[in-house]
Amino acid sequence: MREGVWMWAWLGGVALTARAEVGAGLQPFVKSAAPSVAIMHVRVIDGTGSPAREDQAVLIEAGRIVWVGPNALAPPPPADAERIDATGKTLMPGFVGMHEHLFYPLPDAAAGRLPLYGEMGDSAPRLYLAGGVTTARTAGSLEPYTDLSIKAAIDHGDIPGPRLFVTGPYLEGAPAIGPQLHTLTGPADAARTVDYWAAEGATSFKAYMHITPAELKAAIDAAHAHHLKVTGHLCAVGFREAAALGIDNLEHGLAVDTEFYAGKRPGECPGQQPPQTALAKMDVEGPEIQGLIHDLVAHHVAVTSTLAIFETFVPNRPPMSEARRVRESLHAESWGDYATTRAALAEHAQGSVWSRLFEMEQRFERDFVRQGGLLMAGCDPTGYGGVLPGFGDQRNVELLVEAGFTPEEAIHIATQNGAIGLGEDAHFGTIAPGKAADLILVAGNPAATIADVEKVETVYKDGVGYDPHRLIESVRGLMGIR
Ligand SMILES: [Zn+2]
Repeated sequence: MREGVWMWAWLGGVALTARAEVGAGLQPFVKSAAPSVAIMHVRVIDGTGSPAREDQAVLIEAGRIVWVGPNALAPPPPADAERIDATGKTLMPGFVGMHEHLFYPLPDAAAGRLPLYGEMGDSAPRLYLAGGVTTARTAGSLEPYTDLSIKAAIDHGDIPGPRLFVTGPYLEGAPAIGPQLHTLTGPADAARTVDYWAAEGATSFKAYMHITPAELKAAIDAAHAHHLKVTGHLCAVGFREAAALGIDNLEHGLAVDTEFYAGKRPGECPGQQPPQTALAKMDVEGPEIQGLIHDLVAHHVAVTSTLAIFETFVPNRPPMSEARRVRESLHAESWGDYATTRAALAEHAQGSVWSRLFEMEQRFERDFVRQGGLLMAGCDPTGYGGVLPGFGDQRNVELLVEAGFTPEEAIHIATQNGAIGLGEDAHFGTIAPGKAADLILVAGNPAATIADVEKVETVYKDGVGYDPHRLIESVRGLMGIR
């Protein structure tokens, strides 16, 4: 049976597509490849934000969810179905991560060395999948051809990993923040770059800190002509200006918006620290920031929450319990770099604005959602390290609960909202009949204890069940170098 599961089913008058073969590259990590799976007596958090439901059954057929409801009412599964008694466990949709790079800072960065990031082609896809990320948008690529090749290998069933939505190379103005980024020479170059990478297979674009208003406008117009979206981690362009230019999404949220800094000149990035120092003196509930939220919502600009990476800038956070599992996956040199910088931040805790900014960011995200904004989530494994694929996505959900969302709302942000942002919510992102069987089975109850999202037992992608422990073990110590 493990040789390959091919199945055509006819259910409710809808022809289901054939299930992909479980290839040799996947087999070491697959614990379930049955064509029919019945997960019984399970608590369901369905991804819509509605409260957890007890004692449910979820039936999977040929990679899709075909039935969800009270266990007592479940139709009898086919005789050959794999039946799983999930009493005490919880089923959630797979995460739809919207800020999920395949790269990570290389070890031994020091003064005088170039800021270089390495493509984690072996470890990142496995850690994402192990952490429950079944779909990932790469939100800015340093090696777009590598990302596209990895996507093809995953789609073909050669290597394990999430369903990838590859974002094109960073659209960065002058001066680019590192040698791995192309420096745009003007609006025509921005449009040309978008056109080229749209043809190569990129399905979204990310504008970066030094892009000018004219370049951003040209990139947005070019992307929209291909029916593709543009997100941004901006600096030279403020959030409201970007919304007026037609941007679809902003990464990170309030903490990187420069528009409230009195010293900002139009079209120029004033650096990160002066605007953040100024921002920290503002009130999220005041008219300026509330006006910004209103404007973003009115322009239908989505925001991607990246609380996990921001948390690493806050002195003495995240807790060491989080750092422990990160250390086990990191290469020793990478762990050393992280631990050294973390210690330095703790030493200078008095002068840091990040405790304040972090609390403001959480409040901003909560208010943005209350006003009707589309908030999505991703782990962003960058900064000085310490946020890893998968683990960081789980941590982000925990931090959304810390921000004041219910566990069900936080999971909704990390699942269905991402699918909406991708325009794919008809296909995945919730637990409902007809959706892809992209599911996370966890021990415990995240609706009561959000940290239970870390207790992943099985990750289903298109109905194939992967063992998270085998995925993590297979790349232990590799994160940071390959
Ligand atoms: Zn990023």
